[in-house]
Amino acid sequence: MTQTLNETHNSDLRSWLDSANTPGADFPVQNLPFGVFRRQGSAEPFRVGVAIGDQILDLAACCDQGLLTGAAAEAGRESSLNTLMGLGAAEWSALRQAISRLLRSDSAQQQQAEATLVPMSDAEMGMPAAIGDYTDFYCSIFHATNVGSMFRPDNPLMPNYKHIPIGYHGRSSSIVVSDTPVRRPHGQTKADDAEAPTFGPCKLFDYELEVGFFVGAGNDQGTAFSVDQADDNIFGFCLVNDWSARDIQKWEYQPLGPFLAKSFSTSVSPWVVTTEALAPYRIPAFERPEGDPQPLPHLDSERNRSHGGVDLDLEVFIRTPQMRQQGLEPHRLSRANFRDMYWTAAQMLAHHGSNGCNLRPGDLLASGTVSGQDKSARGCLLELTWRGSEPIDLPTGEVRRFLQDGDEVILRGACEKEGTARVGFGECRGTILPA
Ligand code: CA
Repeated sequence: MTQTLNETHNSDLRSWLDSANTPGADFPVQNLPFGVFRRQGSAEPFRVGVAIGDQILDLAACCDQGLLTGAAAEAGRESSLNTLMGLGAAEWSALRQAISRLLRSDSAQQQQAEATLVPMSDAEMGMPAAIGDYTDFYCSIFHATNVGSMFRPDNPLMPNYKHIPIGYHGRSSSIVVSDTPVRRPHGQTKADDAEAPTFGPCKLFDYELEVGFFVGAGNDQGTAFSVDQADDNIFGFCLVNDWSARDIQKWEYQPLGPFLAKSFSTSVSPWVVTTEALAPYRIPAFERPEGDPQPLPHLDSERNRSHGGVDLDLEVFIRTPQMRQQGLEPHRLSRANFRDMYWTAAQMLAHHGSNGCNLRPGDLLASGTVSGQDKSARGCLLELTWRGSEPIDLPTGEVRRFLQDGDEVILRGACEKEGTARVGFGECRGTILPA
């Protein structure tokens, strides 16, 4: 079971690599997230690495040296995590244990392992998985209520909201890894007072702070997961920015939901933090207010109720061209927590498979915008500026209602609590290019 604590979570563990032991570091020896990388500017094949401190452990090189063996380690020679994801929780866990032992301060193979390290500053990160299918949910009741009340003031939440995790099929071909620039899309829009729609560059460009998770072995078509099986089928988590063209969305979303307002680009962070690494941060599922319906049995379990949530702190920052010129640090726009989602990741995955739809290794599911109850925890500009009516003041004196060309949006995430090692997610960055 991927939520059981074991020797790899021990907060006393230290690595022989100093940068992994720095307080506040995202990638201590207790984290060990997986990604896909190669040396910058090289013609090397992309391959699997594990983040440790400010370095990347090269799994293929470890296999060549005999430091790691077995099918899971050998899957590290591939240019995506899909094969590793498909092997299942027992293999993931065994590999994590072997990597942990290799990187700990008492490792007998420090010198050989050290020789396989590639500095992150020399690396180019690739897409962590070949994503066959991508589904985006809408699981923050705070976000859904805020957005719903802008468009349907008398009826913000649809009657299904508290019974099923609402989602739509996203576009996998346009998912890009962090640091890939994102071009402002063109689309058809119609102003409220206009007679007819026009086609042109998006004027209301937004981000959405989301948490993504990758499917492991998956299910056969015609079969379904229980919630607990779904939980065991989540390989790991990443940060997702679901770039959104609000003016295009407003005109196209009825009756079948978002389409071109979302499909031009979605950014993901390069490091996939495993479900196992998050074990110390599992918490009860969102506590439903009295009077809300309980989930139907196929979306419910004892384990989900007690451990379905993840205490994951999330932040969004902006850096405008003017801020860059003046050497200013990115400005924080909001801070939220993944624990505030109305549905858990396992419930989203169980729901997805409940009709017999097959989920496959490397499929990506995203949570929907993570917003909390407070204004400071609203995960997109649409909510933060209330459709542009409450602009945000930046340290340069600039204001923002929506994103401008050249703006960079940075998502960060980390799990932290007293007596437990910090598990960081790194960053998901994207800068907007003109249409
Ligand atoms: Ca979304």
